[in-house]
Amino acid sequence: MKKVITPLFAAVLLFALAAGAVQANDAPANLVAVCGCGMVFTPDTNTKYIEYEGHKYACCSDGCHEMAAKDPATAAKMGQAAVEKVMNMSHMKLNVANVMSVTETGTQAMCGCGKKFTVDGATEYVKVEGENYACCSHACHEMASKDPAAAAASAKAKMKAGM
Ligand SMILES: [Zn+2]
Ligand SMILES: [Zn+2]
Repeated sequence: MKKVITPLFAAVLLFALAAGAVQANDAPANLVAVCGCGMVFTPDTNTKYIEYEGHKYACCSDGCHEMAAKDPATAAKMGQAAVEKVMNMSHMKLNVANVMSVTETGTQAMCGCGKKFTVDGATEYVKVEGENYACCSHACHEMASKDPAAAAASAKAKMKAGM
């Protein structure tokens, strides 16, 4: 056996991408979480969590939860690393232009309406000149779809003002 795959690798947890997912008792079905083992999944009412230093980490399976419970510090670290990786990847893929900041609790974006919000699995986007702009609500998305260029310009202006 030349390749060594540590069992720990397969054993990590998951970290809810959006803050709301970890605070709610029952995580909303439309939020995406990333397990430390690299699995991207949608937490449901059966999802198990571990707690480490005040943060809750969702585990993709009973096996991951069991491992994580034994060593929460390592599990939390791996969960965070996995989230960062997935977030970086999804940003490249989505090419979201109006992202303000990326933290361990989620991705903050600036809507054209001036509202800062957390991007999640239910976020809708409009496309302008090859870039995607996240909208804070369905209503904003509807508005932005009518005039994407104006919505994008507004989001950009609000980001400048907000920073
Ligand atoms: Zn897992
Ligand atoms: Zn909005």
